Amino acid sequence: MTLNTSLDAYEVWFATGSQTLYGEDTLRQVAEQSRQVAAGLAGLPVRIVWKPVLTEPDGIRRLALDANADDAVIGVIAWMHTFSPAKMWIGGLGALRKPLLHLHTQANVELPWAEIDFDFMNLNQAAHGDREFGYIQTRLGVARKTVVGHVSNPAVRRQVDQWQRAAAGWQAARTLKLARFGDNMRYVAVTEGDKTEAELRFGVQVNTWGVNELADAVAAASETDIDTLVDEYVDTYEVAPELRPGAERHQSLRDGAAIELGLRSFLEAGGFGAFTTSFEDLGALRQLPGLAVQRLMAEGYGFGAEGDWKTAILVRVANVMGAGLPGGASLMEDYTYDLTPGEERILGAHMLEVAPSLTTATPRLEIHPLGIGGKDDPVRLVFTADPGPAVVVALSDMRDRFRLVANAVDNVAAPDLPKLPVGRAVWRPQPDFATSAACWLEAGAAHHTVMTTAVGVDVFRDFAEMARTELVVIDEDTTVRGFRRELRWNQAYYRLAQGL
Ligand code: MN
Repeated sequence: MTLNTSLDAYEVWFATGSQTLYGEDTLRQVAEQSRQVAAGLAGLPVRIVWKPVLTEPDGIRRLALDANADDAVIGVIAWMHTFSPAKMWIGGLGALRKPLLHLHTQANVELPWAEIDFDFMNLNQAAHGDREFGYIQTRLGVARKTVVGHVSNPAVRRQVDQWQRAAAGWQAARTLKLARFGDNMRYVAVTEGDKTEAELRFGVQVNTWGVNELADAVAAASETDIDTLVDEYVDTYEVAPELRPGAERHQSLRDGAAIELGLRSFLEAGGFGAFTTSFEDLGALRQLPGLAVQRLMAEGYGFGAEGDWKTAILVRVANVMGAGLPGGASLMEDYTYDLTPGEERILGAHMLEVAPSLTTATPRLEIHPLGIGGKDDPVRLVFTADPGPAVVVALSDMRDRFRLVANAVDNVAAPDLPKLPVGRAVWRPQPDFATSAACWLEAGAAHHTVMTTAVGVDVFRDFAEMARTELVVIDEDTTVRGFRRELRWNQAYYRLAQGL
């Protein structure tokens, strides 16, 4: 089964609430206008499907159950045209298991002041109809996103777009199967976590396979398939002369291609969308998987090194959230700093495993020794992430819950790095280096992250709301003092919110 990262198969239902009080004529107008509002959201990444106007509890509950049952439906948008008495929504909102967006809008932009009569007032009363709906959602504790404004307003479209992407990421998590090859790196704390809780919370199935099952799949790669893949490498990358067909180290490139073929066949056979490896447990593999992992991440797979399945989840989710957008998502690791005052920068990389979707340049395909792992020299793609806005996000297991920590950053051009032949990024964190790092450390956030250059922090905010998971954000508005208070309050809130 080939991995699907596109949003094309998904849909979002557009539900309109009303009531029968004002008669059939009014309901016909409601239907017509709500079709127009739904059509006004055309062109967003996920298709909007208009549903007939809802006027009574059974129909509302049925819509929720149908949305739950349909795997293509990743969320529901609700708008209360006229007035939909909200006790009618209690059963339906209680049943709904898909993300909800409350669109607080109306059919018209301007008011026809000279023409307004009470028929107009009764038809266009979402101003209080949606307040009634807000009340019942809040009273029921319904997680949702509230978006305010006319659908022709670009800010409204942008927020719905972000919510759709978060919902797609959420759907990807709910259906994700993750294969771990080997365990976590010995003695490392932050990459550990409760895999049962992860399945309960995010829906992700996290399970382990012996690395030699992967090695068997690698050994099964055919010479013909290796030839074809090597041709693709030569066409796609700037391949080092020593690795080219006929050159002295070409066999290493063929070994790298076999690893990609084996990994791909294993992942496809099991329906996996994410995986981890461990340099301490490579079994019969000849090299630490570098090139293969880089390419699979760029294709949409999630990946975490050193057994880090939590970051692998984030990479997969971020790849789906960013589907169709420029940029990409990758495992990243805060590696080392330039501490020049006022010019502080973070150099991020990994041993090998950074996705080339972070660059628009042509990566170089090279081979160099690797000090750890005790295997043959691995082949890898070498590049620097493009300058531009990015987000790094980490997922920590805080024992009683998961915590997401996000930092808005700006990737910058890197100085020459002639002796660092790996994929890497250089960035300045917001609001400044010292605040960012202090907050990151106070939050207990990991050294592994997903870096995405395709979507911003707001998509992760929506995702966290859907997952009912703590998210703390470090951005241009952050201060250490305020951030520490937020952590302390969250500590209390999330424990209380879990109940007994
Ligand atoms: Mn690492």
